Amino acid sequence: RALLRLAGISKVFANGTVALDNVDLAIRQGEFLTLLGPSGCGKSTLLKMVAGLGGPSTGMIDWPQSSYDALGEPERLLGYVFQEPTLLPWCSVFDNVYLPLKLAGQRKEAVRERIMAVLAQVGLARFAQHYPRELSGGMKMRVSIARALVTNPKILLMDEPFAALDEITRTKLNNDLLKLFAKQNLTVIFVTHSVYESVYLSSRIVIMSARPGRVSSEIAIDMPYP
Ligand code: ADP
Ligand code: ADP
Repeated sequence: RALLRLAGISKVFANGTVALDNVDLAIRQGEFLTLLGPSGCGKSTLLKMVAGLGGPSTGMIDWPQSSYDALGEPERLLGYVFQEPTLLPWCSVFDNVYLPLKLAGQRKEAVRERIMAVLAQVGLARFAQHYPRELSGGMKMRVSIARALVTNPKILLMDEPFAALDEITRTKLNNDLLKLFAKQNLTVIFVTHSVYESVYLSSRIVIMSARPGRVSSEIAIDMPYP
């Protein structure tokens, strides 16, 4: 069942760049969908559109009522992990993960356990009182993922979260993430230009081509989670 449908989506930026050309895409509940394609094919543009950051020039984004019925009343529908970890340097790891809850009006004392539980899930419970500058790139990325997960989103959007990491760190994170997501009822949309990551992580791969950004084919993978 489709949670979300993109129909005939095109995006032309003010400078005339055609980032997306007539893209149709249905996102199914519980899938790990990878958008795979070369740099500049419109993957980020598409992901941001799903997040409501920048609408299409033409076409439609449809959230059917059945999606709201299926999802219930989520505290937060979407979590977004950016390419750079974008942590607040003057806040501890704990406070960085607290931030979205703080913005939602939650008192720190009320959510302390939950923040610690999410930090434990990403293997960083012992680093709660550390500051971002004290962490490695992979650890910062894990904080960033914890921050996206702490509000219990139904859909997690990740834009090349591992692009800046070395191969070994990336493989380790990939393994950890699969275990983590397997435990949650998450729908994931993951953007990458890495064929390896797309095959390794996803249940479905949508391949995009550049100039202009189009969906050229898709592949279903039989083993979604280990
Ligand atoms: P990808 O994520 O696949 O690398 P993007 O979605 O970032 O691709 O970009 C798709 C195309 O749109 C690229 O040619 C990029 O340069 C262009 N683009 C992205 N954002 C803007 C913008 N704000 N203004 C103009 N062009 C943009
Ligand atoms: P990266 O994810 O960038 O590879 P690592 O996870 O390897 O970073 O961690 C970098 C350093 O921090 C290593 O010395 C590692 O032993 C230490 N470290 C990372 N996670 C933990 C943890 N949960 N408990 C204790 N030490 C950790």
